[in-house]
Amino acid sequence: MWFNLNHVCYFSITIILSIFFTTHVYASSEENTLPKCVYHSLLLIYPSVDVTYIDGGYVKRFSGTMSDNLLSKIISAYAGLDLLISELSGGAVESTHEIVVVPKPLKKISPLPYGYWPSPEDVMEDLKYYAPPGTYDSVFVVWYNGPINLNYFGLGGVFINNKTTIYSVIASHEEWVWTYGGRPGEVFLHEMLHGVEIFFSELGYPMPEGGLHGGEIHGYVWSYENGWTEWYRDFMQGRVWEPKLGRYTGIPKEAWSEHCSPRVKMIRDFHKEISKIMSEYNSLNQEYNSLRNNYNSLNQEYNSLRNNYTRLINSCNLISQEVSKIIDEHKSLKNSYDILKQEYDEFKNFCDSLFNSCNISSNNYTSLINIRYSGVNQVSGKEKNIYNFMLIFLLFFLVTGILIFFMKFRNQRQELISSNI
Ligand SMILES: [Zn+2]
Repeated sequence: MWFNLNHVCYFSITIILSIFFTTHVYASSEENTLPKCVYHSLLLIYPSVDVTYIDGGYVKRFSGTMSDNLLSKIISAYAGLDLLISELSGGAVESTHEIVVVPKPLKKISPLPYGYWPSPEDVMEDLKYYAPPGTYDSVFVVWYNGPINLNYFGLGGVFINNKTTIYSVIASHEEWVWTYGGRPGEVFLHEMLHGVEIFFSELGYPMPEGGLHGGEIHGYVWSYENGWTEWYRDFMQGRVWEPKLGRYTGIPKEAWSEHCSPRVKMIRDFHKEISKIMSEYNSLNQEYNSLRNNYNSLNQEYNSLRNNYTRLINSCNLISQEVSKIIDEHKSLKNSYDILKQEYDEFKNFCDSLFNSCNISSNNYTSLINIRYSGVNQVSGKEKNIYNFMLIFLLFFLVTGILIFFMKFRNQRQELISSNI
C-alpha cells in the first residue's frame, strides 16, 4: 500500500509547545567533492476550502479562505526550505522551489484516525496538472483547515507518481504556529525527510533508533532559535551515533550523491538501463557485423559452389544428351544389324540352296560325262549338244542368281548406312 500510516508524522502542536530551548553549534570543514544532489520542490497551497466533514458525529460543512497574512507567513516559511536543505546537508543537497496558489477551493478531504487530510486522490487532478511524474522530488500540499480540529501540523512519508515524488501535507492552523519558534521552513523539511528516510532505508542505509523522531532518545533537544535543526543536521549527514549498532547512522554525503532522491534514482536507473541496453546493442551489433561478414563470405562460397554446380549440371545434361544420342544410334545400328543379319541369312540360305543345286547339277554333269566317256559310242552328237546346252544353262542360271542377290544386298546396306548417317 503506497500510503502507510506508520510513516505518517504527527508533528503535533503540543510537542512544539513542550520542547526545550537549547542550541547546538555546528561547523563543517568537509569539502564536498561529490556530485551535487538537487531537490526540486513544489508548494501547492489551497488558501480556500469548501469541504464537508464529520465532527462530533455531525456532518458539517466548512467553506472559507485563509487571511493574506497567514498565506504570506506560510509562503515565507516555505521559502526558507532551500537554505535549510543546503545548510543541514552540509552542502550535499541543493534545493529549488516553486509555489502554486491554487485558485479554486479544496473540495475534498479524507478522514484520518484523528482528523482529515487532503489525500493524493483528493487532489489528483491538480497533482496531474501541477506536478506530473518526473517534475518534482517533493510536493507539499498546504490547506486551510479553519475550524476543523486536527492533531497534526504535518504529514509525511507518502509517495506519489509511482513512488518517485515525496508527498507531504501541512495544515495551515493559525498564524502564530508559523512563528512560534525554530527555523523558517522546518516543518516542510521535517515532512520531506520522512519520505527521504524511507527512501534511504529501503536502499539499506541504517537509520537511528526512532527514525526521524528519534532526536530526543539520542540526546538532541529543541531550541527556540534552531528548532530541531541540529538533529536534522546530523541526521542528514549520517552523523547520528547509534549505540545499539555501534556506528553512525543517518544519510551520509555519498548516499545523497549516489542516489539523491527517488526521482533522480529513477532517472539514473533509467540512464543505467539505457546504457546497459546501448552496451548490449553495441555488442549485438558487433556480433551482427561479424555474422554478416561470415554470411557474405559463405554467400560468396555458396555462389561459387552454385556456379560450379550449374556448370556440372550443364555438363551432365550434355553428357546425358550424348548418351541418349549414342543409345539412339545404338538402337538404329542394332536395327540395321538385324536387317542385314536377316538379309545375310536369306542370302546365305539362297547361296546354300544355289550351291546345292550347283552341286547336284555338277554331279549330274559329271555323271553324264562319265556316261559319255564310258559309253561314247552310245551317245550321239545330238545328245552331246543337249548336255552341253544344259550345262551352260545351269552355269548361267547360277552366275545370274549370284549377281542379282549380291547387288540387292549391297544396295540395302548402303541405304541403311545412309539413313544412320
Ligand atoms: Zn514526523
